[in-house]
Amino acid sequence: MIRRRVSVLGATGSVGTSTLDLMDQAEQAGTGAFEVVALSGGANIARLAEQARRWRPAVAVTADPARLEELRAALAGTGVEAAAGDAAIVEAASRPTDLVMAAIVGAAGLKSAWAAAATGATLALANKESLVCCGAALIQRVRAAGGRLIPVDSEHSAIFQVFPEAAPERVARLILTASGGPFRRTSLEAMAGMTPEQAVAHPNWSMGAKISVDSATMANKGLEMIEAAYLFGMPASRIDVVVHPESVIHSMVEYVDGSTLAQMGPPDMKTPIACALAWPDRLSWPAPRLDLAAMGQLTFEAPDPVRFPALRLAREALEAGGGAPTIFNAANEVAALAFLDRRLAFLNIAAVIAETLGRMVKTGADSDFDDACAGALALDARARRLALEIVGDLALVA
Ligand code: NAD
Ligand code: MG
Repeated sequence: MIRRRVSVLGATGSVGTSTLDLMDQAEQAGTGAFEVVALSGGANIARLAEQARRWRPAVAVTADPARLEELRAALAGTGVEAAAGDAAIVEAASRPTDLVMAAIVGAAGLKSAWAAAATGATLALANKESLVCCGAALIQRVRAAGGRLIPVDSEHSAIFQVFPEAAPERVARLILTASGGPFRRTSLEAMAGMTPEQAVAHPNWSMGAKISVDSATMANKGLEMIEAAYLFGMPASRIDVVVHPESVIHSMVEYVDGSTLAQMGPPDMKTPIACALAWPDRLSWPAPRLDLAAMGQLTFEAPDPVRFPALRLAREALEAGGGAPTIFNAANEVAALAFLDRRLAFLNIAAVIAETLGRMVKTGADSDFDDACAGALALDARARRLALEIVGDLALVA
């Protein structure tokens, strides 16, 4: 029986909902018993209130202060405290618990992940952007507090499960698998006219809108390369990407003797979430199982650097170091959201990243802040302002 006190930040999103569903399924199966300390969400008050009614956390927080009264009314009579705003999310993230699932999307998740990191709780990190923005310092902060960071991103969960933590010198290379996204076989000409609806229609994974766009541009794999570098202490030169459209092998670790270990599973986020929830134990739940014979074959191909330049840009940002990954992440976020708002053409997402990096990398990282989180957020804000200007210049011109 897995027993945990859990807080879920970004509970109403794709990963957050899967986390609570999985906990529910494990409770139904009699294999898990969970107490929820805090839940946070955004504008979807109905879903947040429904989750709070089911799990009875001490506090439920909406990111939007204008929705506080609505949340309070929805929670009337439950005994669950209602709260709102960024500071309330940070406060909720700081409450004592065994595990914090950090599943807010974007750099907006950094402050609460940073707060959770100092509590000594296990930080189950789905919010890859906070790691890309503030990687080494965030990992250090978790360690210093006596906690443990467990990646939830499926690729990093895979590597985590086969990585020799006590002897990293045995590793030659990390191989991240990528589905290739919805435009794997789309020509550059056709990609130029792609709409948000086409970009978020992912062939294998059901995810939030922003990460779905990131998958279509492969900026997601770029973020994941940076994430892997920080998590496993690997230079860019020892992290490769291979396209694997079936999304069955979630990533691999190649050892110095030529042996390669892979982790496999169906393309369902509940599997890496279950791993993080129970680690070092294993959670039994009614998981979908692989049927390799029915599948017949697994295929692989090299990523196309011409149609997916965001991957190269991420590698360059990682190699440049300093604030470059933070700038990459900020520019990508601004550009992906502008594309979703129909203010930017699909292929210009990578153009905005390239231009922002080109203009900012020489200015160097911000220093002079209380802590690495504040420094990363200041650089993030500067990069966003510039990226927004560049979005205005490029707009829909292909
Ligand atoms: P989502 O858009 O479905 O959900 C995001 C959650 O964050 C929601 O609860 C939303 O209310 C909250 N949120 C959004 N903006 C916020 C803000 N400014 N302040 C506070 N809360 C805010 O996103 P998702 O797909 O669940 O992804 C969450 C994170 O997990 C992302 O970092 C993503 O890259 C990562 N991830 C997701 C998947 C997946 O399958 N969805 C897989 C791997 C990694
Ligand atoms: Mg992933």
